[in-house]
Amino acid sequence: MTLEIPYVNIAGQHAGLKTDLVEAVGSVIEGGQFILGEAVAEFERRFAELCGVRFAVGVNSGTDALIIALRALGIGPGDEVITAPNSFVATASAIVLAGARPVFVDVRDDYNLDPDLIEPAVTSNTKAILPVHLTGRPADMDPINEVADRHGLRVIEDAAQAVAAEYRGKRAGSLGDIGCFSLHPLKTLSACGDGGVLTTDDEALFEHFGIMRNIGLKTRDNAVVWSGNSRLDSVQASMLLVKMKYFEEWTEKRRSNAAHYQKALADVPGVRVPADKPFERAVYHALVIQAERRDELKAYLEGRGIGSAVHYPVPIHLQDAASELGYGSGSFPAAERQAGKILSLPVYSELTGGNLDQISGAIEEFYRA
Ligand SMILES: *Cc1c(COP(=O)(O)O)cnc(C)c1O
Repeated sequence: MTLEIPYVNIAGQHAGLKTDLVEAVGSVIEGGQFILGEAVAEFERRFAELCGVRFAVGVNSGTDALIIALRALGIGPGDEVITAPNSFVATASAIVLAGARPVFVDVRDDYNLDPDLIEPAVTSNTKAILPVHLTGRPADMDPINEVADRHGLRVIEDAAQAVAAEYRGKRAGSLGDIGCFSLHPLKTLSACGDGGVLTTDDEALFEHFGIMRNIGLKTRDNAVVWSGNSRLDSVQASMLLVKMKYFEEWTEKRRSNAAHYQKALADVPGVRVPADKPFERAVYHALVIQAERRDELKAYLEGRGIGSAVHYPVPIHLQDAASELGYGSGSFPAAERQAGKILSLPVYSELTGGNLDQISGAIEEFYRA
């Protein structure tokens, strides 16, 4: 029997929302306020509330959120920023595009920065730590913030995969100086196109973000810095407001889907499923197992009509673009070992209990065969 369980199912999420989404877009079109209108302001208020911060600023992508965050903190040529080598490549691209140098340190079994390795990587040029809450699981922020405090560094969270994730009761985006989010269609809170958000509790930074996303203009006729156009569209904000009504429900469903895998695969030889830590709320942007014979398993699942994906098969330090940084194979053993074993399973909220049984059943069959 061949199933049809895709790795992602954005159309499935939108199916029940189409009338509301079209109506929201329709009202923006009728209002004629396409750039930085009320829909964007309302989205920003709600997003700040969702993250437990004072301020949120909508931008055109998660990548631009990161670039703006770095530049707003004055990070540029000659500066180093410590981050994870197993993130989406945009994390490091943003550091390079701001003019600085990414310095990688290895990750732990939860796919996040190993705090013990950060301090040895600090130099006199280090300006910031940029932890990534990969897969929707918060990085271990207390020891990261302690290192930052000891060395006078800023902390920028790459929270692109972690909307509403919690670490010791505080939400992603409120755990450092600045939070950077993506609203890309494959993220958990997604626009119907590109989008991103910056969060902060610092009013001066908040004002600076607003200027930087809008070509450096402080007022209509006064540019105070050189900057690009990184605005979030009103049309996208209007649809995001519709989706936010369901966001908590979707998040809880992904978490319970993850719990299903944790239980169903606990005793299957050959796979390891991430466990939730007691002090965190992981939101499972991705459910990433570590699997022996990963590529064979992936092909087996594909043969059964079950989609899966690898996030990400080539660590950033081994990308062609990174050759100038001087790293090589063996630089980050944990990240490299994981790259050969990780497999992201479907975890979206539209999966049925039957789907989950079919997927975990197929994985069990593969290893017991
Ligand atoms: C998606 C993502 C980004 C980039 O976001 P875009 O909106 O695609 O520019 C950055 N970092 C991480 C960890 C991501 O998952």
